[in-house]
Amino acid sequence: MGLIFHKISRDKLRPGDHIYSWRAAYIYAHHGIYIGDGKVIHFTRRHGTGTFLDKIFLSSNPPKQCLSCGDQSNLSGVLCSCLDCFLDGGDLYLFDYGVKKVVLMAKIRSGTCTTAPTDASEQVIARANYLLLHNCFGNYHTFENNCEDFAIYCKTSLLVGENYLLGRTGQASSVSATSIATNMISGFDVWGIRSVIRLYKDIGVRKDAAKVPVEILRRANAREG
Ligand SMILES: [Zn+2]
Repeated sequence: MGLIFHKISRDKLRPGDHIYSWRAAYIYAHHGIYIGDGKVIHFTRRHGTGTFLDKIFLSSNPPKQCLSCGDQSNLSGVLCSCLDCFLDGGDLYLFDYGVKKVVLMAKIRSGTCTTAPTDASEQVIARANYLLLHNCFGNYHTFENNCEDFAIYCKTSLLVGENYLLGRTGQASSVSATSIATNMISGFDVWGIRSVIRLYKDIGVRKDAAKVPVEILRRANAREG
């Protein structure tokens, strides 16, 4: 495992893995759960943010006219795509779980690992399939409820915030307006205060993170909608 990213080959993939692929020159990564047979369940957007970030983030939608996936360009929310559509020409990386705090803090880039342990792969896949079936992970929000939040939830069932409402707290570690602006300028995080902030934000150490079953998540957000 490197200090930046954990790149893996396709033959090393195991069902239940949280994978990601970088977009737009390492500014943004698209995350998903590999479920086996070359398929990935992931959380997507259809409409943009209405800001300059659209140019960067709209690449998280799968391309049109895949023989395996069909045309998914008009779909949004939780989708199942082939690995090629998910990667969109990018390389394949593994998001690591259960890492030591010192490893998390030493990482040059956030959004690549967490101290939280993963649940069993069967539970992870069942959770992803449930969210796919009901398309019930709320509305995509670049900073508050995104593809990384989705994958972390599938792996751990951990959510932060009150009443289990999606899109309120931004539990993902990698994306915030500040981190994007900094990364666009400097390319990479600098060691120091940012590593402390990364640990503080990590869902594995947050006191406000709780295990939430998918059925309760679905009911809580249905009431809200
Ligand atoms: Zn496809």
